[in-house]
Amino acid sequence: MTEIKCPSCGGRLELDPENPNIETCRQCNKKYAVQWIHSEATGEDKLDLRQVQDRIDYKPVQKKEPKKTGWEPYGWKRGVALVVLFFVLMGIMYGPKVYQRYQMDHGGITVEADAPK
Ligand SMILES: [Zn+2]
Repeated sequence: MTEIKCPSCGGRLELDPENPNIETCRQCNKKYAVQWIHSEATGEDKLDLRQVQDRIDYKPVQKKEPKKTGWEPYGWKRGVALVVLFFVLMGIMYGPKVYQRYQMDHGGITVEADAPK
């Protein structure tokens, strides 16, 4: 078997006993996924090393799984803006009517609303 050297430090790579496709560098502890790519043109096997993130060295990144609300494409800010806009529109549309009603109910200025009877 061909000895594989670590691309980053030149140290010897050793087969991971837990994973036969993974070689671990003895010097820098980097892990590489080893793959031999057979080249038809040269008739040789070309070594393909891909560095693998070691699970142990993994920084504890907290995976935040946001709750699916169906509003993801809009973002919460746009959602809030839409709600605010909705209330503003409602205020513009119904504000005067509500005000009139209030005046009438409380014996204020009697406004003869020309609402259809
Ligand atoms: Zn190394």
